[in-house]
Parts: sequence; C-alpha cells; structure tokens
Amino acid sequence: MLSIENCRIEAQVVDITTLHVDAIVNAANTSLLGGGGVDGAIHRAAGPELLRECETLHGCPTGDAKITAGYRLPAKHVIHTVGPVWNGGARDEALLLASCYRRSLECAREAGVKSIAFPAISCGVYRFPPDEAVKIAVQTVIDALSAYPSLERVVFACFDEAMLARYERELSSH
Ligand code: ADP
Repeated sequence: MLSIENCRIEAQVVDITTLHVDAIVNAANTSLLGGGGVDGAIHRAAGPELLRECETLHGCPTGDAKITAGYRLPAKHVIHTVGPVWNGGARDEALLLASCYRRSLECAREAGVKSIAFPAISCGVYRFPPDEAVKIAVQTVIDALSAYPSLERVVFACFDEAMLARYERELSSH
C-alpha cells in the first residue's frame, strides 16, 4: 500500500468484477465487442446491456479509452482501454501501455470517479512482459495524481500471487 497526496494505491488478488469501486478498467480489444480474459469476465458480470452500449462506441484505438455504465456490476462505470499486443518492444508498446493508464484516468476524472481498479493491462493474451508492465502501470498512475486531486483510491487487481508480488515490489520502491 502506498499513499500519495489524497490517494491510497494498493494491489490485491481479487476478481476485478467483484470490486465496489466507482470504476473498473477493462483490458478490451479494439472492437470493444467483448473477448476472453478479463474482458469476458466483465461482460459476463455486467450483463448484455454492456455489449449494447459498447456497440454504440464504434471501437477504440490501441492506447485510448472509452467509458460506459457498469450495469449489473458493483462498479458504476467500466472504462474500456485497449492495451498493445507485445511484439518485441520496438513498436511503441511501452508508450501505448502508459497511454492506456493515462487515458483511463482522464475518462475517470471527467466522470467524477473517486475510486478505480485496474487489471494488469496487456499481461494476458497480449503477452506484455509483466515486470515491465507493472513498472509502467505504477509510475503512470503516480505521475497522473497531481492532475487528479479528487482521486482517493486505486486498486491494482491481480489474478494471482505472482502478479501481486510484482505490484507490491514496485509500490514499495516508491
Ligand atoms: P490482455 O488482452 O490485455 O492481455 P487479458 O484479459 O488476457 O488482457 O489479461 C490481462 C490480465 O488480467 C492478466 O494478468 C489476467 O490474468 C488478468 N485477469 C483475467 N481475468 C481477471 C479478473 N476477472 N480480474 C482481474 N484480473 C483478471
């Protein structure tokens, strides 16, 4: 756990769909029409109304984010962001991943979100090396806090203990 300004930043092993936060972030694909991994879990938990709203958004470019309602989720909003597919690191993957966190936080701020949870964007089927992804996630969130003083809580939702250990290590280095 790390406290910076008014914000508590923590990592937990938890299914992101169960979190009672103002917004959860979805690691979506450019179609925004659902997929596997955390995307599939979020659509299953939110119900079919989420897909109906996503269909009106006409997709999302890699590195960008779009916000919807949360429907049957405990979270009020879902922020859909599209992480880069890892292709060796020379195709702007790190910049695009940082952009996902920044754009998600901008969408959140515009919606008045005070608490937000992120999954490990791009660390599943998109194969981003997790140590580097976690560094980018933590640093980008910390850097964005000064422009987002109303943010009170950030949760990094981890699917397993190995991912939790990466976030704990990174958070304790700040
Ligand atoms: P991407 O396509 O961006 O790689 P994935 O959904 O395949 O996205 O994986 C992103 C991360 O989310 C992985 O670390 C995966 O283990 C994790 N994950 C999958 N389901 C959930 C869930 N319900 N809650 C939190 N994290 C999850």
